[in-house]
Amino acid sequence: MKNAVDIFNDEIIQLTENGPRRSLKDVAGPQGRTISLGGKTVLNFCSNNYLGLADHPRLVKAAADSLQTEGFGSAASRLVCGNMESHRKLEDEMARLKKTDRCLLFSCGYMANLGIISGLFGREDLIISDKLNHASIIDGILLSRAESKRYAHNDMASLEGFLKDSSKYRHRLIVTDSVFSMDGDVARLNDIVELAERYNAIVMVDEAHAFGVLGKNGGGLVEELGLEGKVGIQMGTFSKAAGAFGAYCCGSGPLIDLLINRARSFVYTTGLPPSVAAAALEAVRMISSESQRRKDLLENAQDLRGRLKALGFDTMNSQTPIIPVVIKDAALAVEFSRQILEQGIFVQAIRPPTVPVGSSRLRVTVMATHTREDIGRLIGVFNEIGKNLKIIN
Ligand SMILES: *Cc1c(COP(=O)(O)O)cnc(C)c1O
Repeated sequence: MKNAVDIFNDEIIQLTENGPRRSLKDVAGPQGRTISLGGKTVLNFCSNNYLGLADHPRLVKAAADSLQTEGFGSAASRLVCGNMESHRKLEDEMARLKKTDRCLLFSCGYMANLGIISGLFGREDLIISDKLNHASIIDGILLSRAESKRYAHNDMASLEGFLKDSSKYRHRLIVTDSVFSMDGDVARLNDIVELAERYNAIVMVDEAHAFGVLGKNGGGLVEELGLEGKVGIQMGTFSKAAGAFGAYCCGSGPLIDLLINRARSFVYTTGLPPSVAAAALEAVRMISSESQRRKDLLENAQDLRGRLKALGFDTMNSQTPIIPVVIKDAALAVEFSRQILEQGIFVQAIRPPTVPVGSSRLRVTVMATHTREDIGRLIGVFNEIGKNLKIIN
């Protein structure tokens, strides 16, 4: 008879037959443009800490101040006795920045998508989702039990095809990432909103990689395109450009009231530690009042992307600080990333099932705080290894 250890061991062997297994890398100290990895300081080109705020003294101080006045734990669900001052201040600030009636915090982006989608939609509804949407959206749709369709990535004809005979459903939801996390391209939100109006559908965006990066005040793609009022459900996180943790949903009063009553990942979980909300609030204030970091970030992204392309690398349709470098073969992508790390630069290889088979890639993410020399070093290393491994000529 097999015991549990044998059963799991068999499964992990099966799972990893076709490639190296995923494993954790140990980081010491804070997140910055460099990090300490296995005792060695390396240049970090794989975090989502786009603005370099994760270790910023102002965030640390905001959290420390809140620890002094609010303590650490929030002790219960927000609906019981856990609705603390820092939560409310962050929600007010986000509603103001997003120009919506209200905002509701969730513990993280993953939980927000589960709770929002499954709390608002059910068996009588149709959810149409971009094929490259984040896993948390896919899981939220599954949990909702709604009828679901996935349209070809950013393909409006494919989306419209599913909308055409959708009148039998109670609600129609179109849901999309605003910046796609593995390709670094941007949703065609103007077109999506137009289709939604024509077919009476609700639009939901996940601004996880756009919040703090796009928009005049860092509000995201909805702000950048001036689509306030046309996107019913604006979700995003404080875990990426904001350098903190937690997530938001911004929208109308009735939307937020419904979520407070129905989103199970809001109702049945303990409120965020208030110090986490306080740090996120400080980040939001910095994002909306200081645009220089955003400018530096977008300049670095353009510079790095242009130079990678000039070397002959395929960066797909990246238009953001997420710059995929397509290697295709999974083992080769892993080998490339291993060799880069030997040269003191940390870039993660991304392979199936996270991306489609044959599109394994290095996912390079750039930060506002990377220097010209940092970018130059990465380019030098990519040129050398790319030639050695015959990915470029
Ligand atoms: C990272 C991410 C999430 C999850 O957010 P967390 O706060 O890390 O749980 C959700 N959606 C998208 C598009 C993301 O990139």
